[in-house]
Parts: sequence; structure tokens; C-alpha cells
Amino acid sequence: MSGQNPIFIPGPTNMPDRIRKAMDVQTTDHRSPDFVDFLAPLFADLKTVFKTRTGEIITFPASGTGGWEAAVTNTLSPGDKVLTSRFGLFSHKWIDLCRRHKLDVDVIEREWGEGAPVDLLGAALAADTEHRIKAVLVTHNETATGVKSDVAAVRRAMDAARHPAMLYVDCVSSLASMDFCMDEWGVDLAVSGSQKGFMLSTGMAIIAVSQKALRAARDATCPRAFLDFHMMRDANQVGGYPYTPPLQIMMGLRESVNMLLEEGVDNVFARHHRMASGVRAAIQAWGLELAAKRPELESDTVSAIYVPEGFNSNELTNHIYNRYGVSFGVGLGEMDGKAFRIGHLGSITEVMILGGLSAVEMGMADLGYPVKPGSGVRAAQEYYRSTN
Ligand SMILES: *Cc1c(COP(=O)(O)O)cnc(C)c1O
Repeated sequence: MSGQNPIFIPGPTNMPDRIRKAMDVQTTDHRSPDFVDFLAPLFADLKTVFKTRTGEIITFPASGTGGWEAAVTNTLSPGDKVLTSRFGLFSHKWIDLCRRHKLDVDVIEREWGEGAPVDLLGAALAADTEHRIKAVLVTHNETATGVKSDVAAVRRAMDAARHPAMLYVDCVSSLASMDFCMDEWGVDLAVSGSQKGFMLSTGMAIIAVSQKALRAARDATCPRAFLDFHMMRDANQVGGYPYTPPLQIMMGLRESVNMLLEEGVDNVFARHHRMASGVRAAIQAWGLELAAKRPELESDTVSAIYVPEGFNSNELTNHIYNRYGVSFGVGLGEMDGKAFRIGHLGSITEVMILGGLSAVEMGMADLGYPVKPGSGVRAAQEYYRSTN
């Protein structure tokens, strides 16, 4: 295999050469003064990406899952009640992680393909007159189903219920690709990772923490050691890390943030919307259905697509990989065998997407799908030609 084909899984994403080159550096001493000068401006620029002035950035050598764990264990105590809803594999896994930490999780079940149920969350908060709920957890972009939730509306529902709970948002597959406004939405903990919108290799959890959450971290009693906020903050404030930092990834992160700020984050979001819209035009032309139940739920970073009755989506993704050397996301959890996913986030262009759609069409034709080869590519071409 040539190794030159782009990848269409929703993370890890394609790495721009600029970032790969920035990571190709010789080892340097993380206790040298240079590292001090490196860290503070990087964190300042990351605040721009999260759209926060008042929050603080905390990073750990971990993946997004480590970010969930850090958010929860630093700010909550065993037995604390948290409110959330389940509508895909990632919201499910966060719930599981909370339960392993002995939190008392109230789950509102939703059909997969739906997003966070704002009205039901609001009603649960209004009914909680004793304010036992300490946190509301929202998966901004459910990567399993390609569904985005309205975080601003969840904040409004929390405010309408006059509830003091904190708002925790998983933005692993949305940050740096879809608009995210930490301060405006009143988010207390925003959890992301290096390998999706940041276009880096896996290995860093990138978290933004409100002042309220930092205060909660003084009293919370869930055990944590490696992922301790205050230990990390204290070290960062004098320009260091409490243990050995993943230096090369941090160099890559610096370059990633440079690229995002050069383009302008709002332009980055507009680009993702346009890329996604071309993919959706193709899916419509194929006559296939998205998992997302309504247009306002459609994610600009990943599309989950049901295959027709009688076909197995894993056979399709395996065939495309084996025959054409291109990876697409498999159906996760309940969608195993029923849907495949196209990741369209990070470093991706119209031409790359047209190539990916073309590979899907070849795979579907090979397997006898009732889909007209060329129909999706053509629809996406028309969309890209008529927009910019
Ligand atoms: C990728 C992802 C995560 C974290 O996964 P890791 O593999 O631990 O980085 C969490 N939530 C969502 C929505 C994701 O897409």
C-alpha cells in the first residue's frame, strides 16, 4: 500500500506536513528556561481556541478518555450525583467511567441519532430542588452517530432552572472544527484531545477549566494522582510539568495552534461546514440515510451513514480498506454492521473528500449496493463548485 491515501476515520485525523515537521525535533531539556517561555504563550493561544478568557488550560499526557477522567475526578467526590443522557457510544463510555469512580449517574436514555435532550435535562434540574446534582455532562459531538448537541441551550435550561450544577462538555471531536464557546455557554469543564481537530498524533488530553471548577477541585475527594489539576497548574505556573512532558507532541500542538489561528477559528469552522455539506450532498444522492435524525443535529466533523437493509457495513469498510487502501469509520456499538462513518475533520480538502467518496462508490458497486456509481461524487462536486 502506498501510504499516501488520506484517512477518513473521525480521529486520529490526517496530519499536515507542517505539524509532522514541527514534531521532528531532537530531545531538549524540559527543565530549561526555554520550556518556560514556550508553555505560557501556548496556553494563552489555546484559550482562543476554546473561546475562553476566564478559564485555564490544563494538559495531560493522555487521550481524550484521560481528559474525561481528569475532569470528573478533580471536581467531584464519590457519591456525587451527575446528570447526563446516553445517545451513542461516547456518551455511554463517559457514563461508564463516572460509575467506575462511584458517582451516582442519572441517565436520560435517548435513541441513537438524537442529541442531548434539553427539555428533559431542564425538567430534571428543576425537580432537583435540593440541588443534589453537582454536574451536567454533555457530549457536544457524539462521534458514533455524527450528532451535535446544543450546548448553549443546555446552559439556558440550567439557568432557567436556577440550578448551580457545573456544566461538563466532551468536545473531543468538535473543538477546533465546530464552533465552541466556553465562556458564552458557561462551560465549566471542556475536554478535548490532540488527535482530532488539532490534527496531531494521539497523546494529549487538552482541557479548559473554569474558575468555579478550579475551586471545586480544592474540595473534591475522588482519588487522583497523575491527573491532578492543582499539581499540574502549580508546575505550569513556573513553566514546568510535574513529570516528563511529551515534548514532541507539545511542539506539534504549538504548530497546530499556529495553523488554526492563522486561518482564524471561525474560518476553520466554516471550512468544516462546507466539507461536511459536500459529504451530505453525496449521501443524499446515494439515497442513504444519516444516523442524525434532523438537519440541526448533523455534525460537521463526522457523518454516520446507514447501509441499506440486507447489507453489512463492516463488509463495506473492510472491502474498501483491502481493495483500495482507504479507511472509513466502522459502526460502533448499536450501529455495528449497520452503519459506517466518514470522518471529515481536520486537515482535509475538497479533493481528498471527492477521492474518499469515490472509493465508497467503488466499494458499494463491487458489493452490489443499489447505489449509482458517480452519483454522490457528482453531487459533492456540484456543491463544492457552487460554494466557496
Ligand atoms: C475520540 C473521542 C473521545 C476520546 O477518545 P480517546 O480515544 O480516549 O482519545 C471522547 N469523546 C468523543 C466524543 C470522541 O470522539
